Amino acid sequence: MGASQAVEIDAWLRQGGIVVTASERAARALASAFHRARLAEGLTAWPAPNIQDWNGFVRSAWAAHTNDGRLLLNSTQEQSLWADLAAAEGRMATLLEGPRGRLAALAMEAHELLCFHAPRFLRASARSGWQNDAATFNRWLSAFEETCRANHLLSSGRLPIELLPLLPIPAGQRERPPLLIAGFDRILPVQRALFDALGSWTEAGPSQPATEISFHEARDDQAELAACAHWCGQKLAANPQTRVLVVTQNAAAQRGQIERAFLAHSGSIPSPTFELSLGVPLGKVALPRAAHLVLRWLSGTLAEHELDWLFSTGYAAASLRESSALQGHMRALRRRGLEQAEWTLQAFIQPIARRANESPLPGEWVNRMTEARRRLDEFERRPQSPLDWAELIPQLLESLHFAVSQALSSAEFQAVRRWQQALETVASLGFDGRRIHWKEFLAVLARTLDETLYAPESRNAPIQIAGPAESAGLTADALWFLGASEDAWPARGATHPLLPPELQREARMPHATAQLDWDLAQVVSRRLLGSAPEVHFSYARQTQGVESRPSRLIVQLAAPPQPMPAELAPAPKGSPLTVLVEDFSRIPFRPGPVPGGAGVLTAQSQCPFKAFAVARLAAQRWEPAQAGLTPSQRGKLLHEVLHAVWAGPPRGIRTLAELLSLTDRQTWVASHVRRVFETRVFETGARPSLLDRMPVRYLELEQQRLTGLVIAWLDYESARIPFEVLETEAERTISLAGLTFSLRLDRLDRLNDGSVLVIDYKSGDVSPKSWELPRPDDVQLPLYAGFALGDDDLLGGLTFAKVRPGKLEFAGCVGAPSSTLFAGLKNSATLMKNALQAEQLDNWKVYIERLAKDFLSGRADVDPRDYPKTCERCGLQTLCRIQENRIALDEDESDGSGFDSAGSADE
Ligand code: SF4
Repeated sequence: MGASQAVEIDAWLRQGGIVVTASERAARALASAFHRARLAEGLTAWPAPNIQDWNGFVRSAWAAHTNDGRLLLNSTQEQSLWADLAAAEGRMATLLEGPRGRLAALAMEAHELLCFHAPRFLRASARSGWQNDAATFNRWLSAFEETCRANHLLSSGRLPIELLPLLPIPAGQRERPPLLIAGFDRILPVQRALFDALGSWTEAGPSQPATEISFHEARDDQAELAACAHWCGQKLAANPQTRVLVVTQNAAAQRGQIERAFLAHSGSIPSPTFELSLGVPLGKVALPRAAHLVLRWLSGTLAEHELDWLFSTGYAAASLRESSALQGHMRALRRRGLEQAEWTLQAFIQPIARRANESPLPGEWVNRMTEARRRLDEFERRPQSPLDWAELIPQLLESLHFAVSQALSSAEFQAVRRWQQALETVASLGFDGRRIHWKEFLAVLARTLDETLYAPESRNAPIQIAGPAESAGLTADALWFLGASEDAWPARGATHPLLPPELQREARMPHATAQLDWDLAQVVSRRLLGSAPEVHFSYARQTQGVESRPSRLIVQLAAPPQPMPAELAPAPKGSPLTVLVEDFSRIPFRPGPVPGGAGVLTAQSQCPFKAFAVARLAAQRWEPAQAGLTPSQRGKLLHEVLHAVWAGPPRGIRTLAELLSLTDRQTWVASHVRRVFETRVFETGARPSLLDRMPVRYLELEQQRLTGLVIAWLDYESARIPFEVLETEAERTISLAGLTFSLRLDRLDRLNDGSVLVIDYKSGDVSPKSWELPRPDDVQLPLYAGFALGDDDLLGGLTFAKVRPGKLEFAGCVGAPSSTLFAGLKNSATLMKNALQAEQLDNWKVYIERLAKDFLSGRADVDPRDYPKTCERCGLQTLCRIQENRIALDEDESDGSGFDSAGSADE
């Protein structure tokens, strides 16, 4: 809707005329343009414009013309009817709630397509020849019509058709006021018939096409988005009153990416600068999601990551102190290895879990949860009406003090309102007198939350970001259309699976043919060209590594694309909001024991701040909860089994000869694995065993897996030159530069030349390259080799024992590998190429001592050895704030512009 159309609509509204728009958003946009125009005229009060969106318009017309007592179904009610009909057929696909709901949604959609595009097929006789899935839908539709007839119900899709016969104006009565129709990309036959029946109507005239049109080619989608955001910023900087419309096809999927680009590149214009038209599912909004999780937990299980998230929101606690205590409890559970895939409320609050934890659950919280659980239990004994359940929920949440720990923001208040509306919608399921169980109510509530889109009230931001369809009826001073590539525009879709394809083609239903997609895209593109005086299209030459070509349709309308102009290169990043303080002070560590063993010196080498944080601040990375055993638990089980295997008599062995003399390695290893699992996994006592937390069958499979892995490793070791295992899990205490370290060495072997081989078991992907000076990534084994052996011990080598499925090997530095480890090693073998050199050990010792001195002196710079890889494995970013540091460093290192000499965003 360009300037001429806007003038026409404004004049129409000023004269008291009625405008009907295609969408609610277009109605809001017109209303706000009308009010802006009056303000610009200097008025202080004026009559409200009469603008109605299509759905509201039809519903008010229905209310005005009939009182036949039929209940107009909302979409939840209608979907539940379709779900019941689908379930009545008893097919496998309809047994589960999820697939049944999806089928019901498809059936609703097919019904609505028929209502709008091919109403004659609503008569059962017209559908008699339908086959396969369409025949099934035909049966459901007949049953649906019958149910509606018998129970005086009306589908909202049928509303325009049912209205038509009621509309003719009786003789002698006055004509109805004329209508102006705006923002419809396509007026469907039923809509046209309805407007005709209402009297005189006219469509807002064509708008003048833009005077400035360009088509840009960007290097990739990031560059395209950055240039668009930067262009928006330039527009607003030049004139803060400017209104910009950005049209993008993938707003839902790319929401985060779009928001980041606009926050980064739209300049320093005061907030709010932009808003996206498309809301997010209410089920993804924090407050409703938290409420639903709490309710689910009262009678079911929550995954541990859901609990992590729930406690982090603070909504589940009555105060900030309680909230911290809940989060602390989760951390303590994880620290003590008590995590489990899913928690019932009962298991979470049972005394055994609480006793085993140094961070107890808040008593008041436990009491509230227990009481709410008891109250729900009473209700749950019998099915209730959806209304009863909906009334119980606010009471339960109130009794839990849900979301009272902090003042709610405006957006949260709006989310609360939408949550209440969602509850009311689900409560309306009782329209047919049904009674349902709590679980069913919660499942429908979850579906409703997922299907309800939530967008905070429009703040009338100057940059509006909308999809092509939602942009109908919107106008602006300038417009940018993103993603105009051949693959994406015209947008393509599939035909509907429940309707005969030939009917869809004949009725010109969406996506029935490629030509229809092309025609609709052409209409939308032309409409966009008339929505602003200045229009830019853009596409990315590469999207996620895949080459793209420009949309032929846009090339026809706007000429071939040109490289992105240099002036659209995003400006260099502004100064960081943080103030940098160079802190060279050091707080020395008191000489003595160091918590964390060799890991502290490895951390000191990787990043001095990491060592400081781990050993002196007791900082820990947050390990994500896992559905099964964590890698660290798997690693511990492997260590314990290998420790038991090589522990010597009575159950273990010590030498190669003993290994080779084992007659039934499978049974022997399996018995060791079983014993480790029995003591580790089935242990009882102060803390719940793994058996309480994981399914028995899963643990049996883990035993089988581990047995196979250990046998494969022993097969590998069977080929070694004779050796003797001196010690496993060998404990040593060493002193270094005044620091005391307690070490535990996985295994020490005596080789055939009398030297000692230091072995460390690893189930992950490791390499001796990590020991390379000048700044090793790992100093654990060099530390053991250099400082933990006895004075009489001659070092034969240090090696990782990589016990990984499909990758079993010793990887390290051994003095004479072909005469002490494996006979016949070729010179090209890695072990041969990496043979241990005498000076290597001396160099490591010097470096390790320096690390110890650095730690002792309090050296704690934020200085990762290999950014960003080191940081990605560290997990302490929130503490060291490396990101802010890097911004400052990057700026120092760059030429000040942050871009290449051409200054182009594109290259
Ligand atoms: S995240 Fe990086 S910079 Fe921060 S402590 Fe860890 S390694 Fe150091």
